[in-house]
Amino acid sequence: MEVVEQIRQMAAITKKAAREDLKVGLVPTMGALHEGHLSLIRRARKQSDVVTASIFVNPVQFGQNEDFDSYPRELSSDLRQLSAAGVDYVFVPTAAEMYPPEFSTWIMVEGLSHKLCGISRPQHFRGVTTVVGKLIHILQPAFAFFGQKDAQQTIIIRRMLSDLNLETELVVCPTVRESDGLAISSRNRYLNGPERNAATVLIRSLRAAQQMMDEGARDGQQILDKVKRCIEGEPLARIDYIALVDNERLNPVISIDREALLAVAVFIGKTRLIDNLPIHLGD
Ligand code: AMP
Repeated sequence: MEVVEQIRQMAAITKKAAREDLKVGLVPTMGALHEGHLSLIRRARKQSDVVTASIFVNPVQFGQNEDFDSYPRELSSDLRQLSAAGVDYVFVPTAAEMYPPEFSTWIMVEGLSHKLCGISRPQHFRGVTTVVGKLIHILQPAFAFFGQKDAQQTIIIRRMLSDLNLETELVVCPTVRESDGLAISSRNRYLNGPERNAATVLIRSLRAAQQMMDEGARDGQQILDKVKRCIEGEPLARIDYIALVDNERLNPVISIDREALLAVAVFIGKTRLIDNLPIHLGD
């Protein structure tokens, strides 16, 4: 496995691979790797000839009062895990090279970026689409792998790829969970003992909704009310949002008659966690 810092060098490597007709897969991450990330790497390994992972704690996707400074950085253990998982190249650009002082071009998916998580994090998705757009431009991968855990991110990136006529295929991989159902996240480590127990309320609320739907419920408000009551039963939890939306425009779904997304964002103490349930007809 080779660790590449410079943009020019990374671009040259993947360009050469493409000339040799090799399919490049890209797994963008912010490091502090866990099983969720590794599931993306394994998928990439299965379906690409050359697997690249990027590790970049992207400053422009963090808000002023968010956790950019305290976000976990564990490069040496990340590199060990990526090497063991069969990654070919790890791209570790510096913020100075990604965002030189005169940097002033942004990729912004309007509308979608200001719904759900975009309400409490108004600059977040502009930062995400800009960095993912840059990574895709630099590496020109055949495939880019993202987790269902960040469902809104996948919907926004799908829109961006289409709007900008980028040829990279988006591959969305299922959410990996702890044994008690908590979606694995680098931010779970911020939770203390009681908060860690309380954090299962996200998956408990989604499973309660799933059960209602299994029993035939289709009314959106009824399902949202159930999720709300479940989360409100947990004293350490504070709801940021609960949303039942369609998968393309993120508009509210009044009655479930096609595929949809049930998404929640909940503060457990000071830590904001997200989770979601993709709803498939016939499930
Ligand atoms: P991050 O490092 O948090 O930016 O995440 C990098 C990628 O890993 C994103 O595509 C995430 O959606 C994905 N990811 C994070 N947690 C999980 C998880 N528990 N299961 C599946 N994918 C995940």
